[in-house]
Amino acid sequence: MGKGLKPDYYLSSLFTVSVRDLQDKGIKGLLLDIDNTLVPNHQPDADGRVISFVSRMQEAGIRLAILSNASAHRISLFNRPLGLPVVAGTFKPFRRGYRHGIALLDLDASEICMAGDQLFTDILGANRAGIRSLLVAPIHVLEPWYVRLKRLAEKVFMGGRAPSENLHDEP
Ligand SMILES: [Mg+2]
Repeated sequence: MGKGLKPDYYLSSLFTVSVRDLQDKGIKGLLLDIDNTLVPNHQPDADGRVISFVSRMQEAGIRLAILSNASAHRISLFNRPLGLPVVAGTFKPFRRGYRHGIALLDLDASEICMAGDQLFTDILGANRAGIRSLLVAPIHVLEPWYVRLKRLAEKVFMGGRAPSENLHDEP
């Protein structure tokens, strides 16, 4: 706890992460944000890239669950081809959803990592819940002005650091 807005890892994309890297870090489960982490926020469906990521993780025994602030309708449409467990009634960064997520994955908090694109929801919530956090550079789309404003604030908090391709511990 007490890490505030600092992510443990910062990647340019979640899709390049290897099972080996996760296993080396002792990560056995991922809580997944949807919007701008797995797909652009206007895209309703999980695409081939998401589907192959999910099956690659699951075949290796990495447990996955969706932790998203999106509407239940949006989540269920997206999740139709994936069939992942969903943490319902989440409101990141509040701890309740993360606690449900930890219980759903049935792993120790230390073995779980939240993957998301927003410091003030995904990462802050993960840090408060005592799990690890992986910030990904958002999949780019046209975002509304208030989200762009938040992106600027995120850049300031990340000190202009660039995301990496591999799972390095953030300094
Ligand atoms: Mg997001």
